[in-house]
Amino acid sequence: MSKTMKALTYNGEGKIAFEDKPIPTIEKATDAIVKMVKTTICGTDLGIFHGKNLYMREGIILGHEGIGIVEEVGAGVSNFKKGDKVLISCITSCGVCEYCKKQIYAHCKDGGWILGHMIDGTQAEYVRIPHADGGLYKYPDTISDDIAVTLSDILPTGHEIGVKYGNVQPGDDIAIVGAGPVGMSALLTAQFYSPATIIMIDLDENRLALAKELGATHTLKPGDNIREEVAKIVGEDGVDVAIEAVGVPPTWGVCEKIVKPGGNIANVGVHGQSVDFQIQDLWIKNLTITTGLVNTDTTPLLIKSVATNRLPVGKLITHHFKFEDILEAYDVFLNANKNKAMKLIIDL
Ligand SMILES: [Zn+2]
Ligand SMILES: [Zn+2]
Repeated sequence: MSKTMKALTYNGEGKIAFEDKPIPTIEKATDAIVKMVKTTICGTDLGIFHGKNLYMREGIILGHEGIGIVEEVGAGVSNFKKGDKVLISCITSCGVCEYCKKQIYAHCKDGGWILGHMIDGTQAEYVRIPHADGGLYKYPDTISDDIAVTLSDILPTGHEIGVKYGNVQPGDDIAIVGAGPVGMSALLTAQFYSPATIIMIDLDENRLALAKELGATHTLKPGDNIREEVAKIVGEDGVDVAIEAVGVPPTWGVCEKIVKPGGNIANVGVHGQSVDFQIQDLWIKNLTITTGLVNTDTTPLLIKSVATNRLPVGKLITHHFKFEDILEAYDVFLNANKNKAMKLIIDL
């Protein structure tokens, strides 16, 4: 019997490989081994590919999203058993450290975002999940396996770090800068809170058209006069909440220009370089600026909302690939605009 599996590894900036790796085994009693059924590629994986995460070690298996079947559990795992179908959270949480007790699972002392980052991830035939009781979820049959993949990361990230940190309220005017999978997830989950206006801002026409279908009231392309364009829609003061969902200096700059006094800028994007913070204009505006990594504390409620079809998440899934074609999938997602790619599902 073979003890190796296929996996997608990061081998340095711009270098990934589909290669043989050892099948993971239980290392601690709280671990589970999951046989992957579906995974996906995240914008964050592309960031790693481009060398954005400078502390990323070579040889790590990428991926922090997906679903699978529990193959084996350690003696300390109580909620799962062999054969359970599970959703894998992008965040690992021990449940007992200082940060877990504050529900800031993103900063768990023995977890956080470690899958496909500090330890081997989900773009593989098998993955070891530490603290399995905290990082795995069962989900009802009313959620298709494809859609379940969106609950690993993009939906909780858009909801928690965009919408909740941005404090979107009924009647608010909000703008989301960046119509990628996470921006779209913010768009979908913002509608739980009934904002009056949702302006989606992106360069890509296809993405803006999809945003309209998913509930954006207005769409705009960013440009020199973005402040005036937003003012035409919501009035000259700007929006109550600006959600940054890209992670590059220009999109941060848009948020600074369009937020009104007393408003919120919620940064969701993973930034790889510094931004120009216009404190000389902003100090007087009584803003709340938030940043963060997803905690996945709202994953259980999102599972419920998706299960009753409250969110048309399926429209985000644009491509399917077989696992052996994952390098081609990376190529498609690296050129997402050209390929009209939003969320890719990779079937094992
Ligand atoms: Zn992700
Ligand atoms: Zn913890």
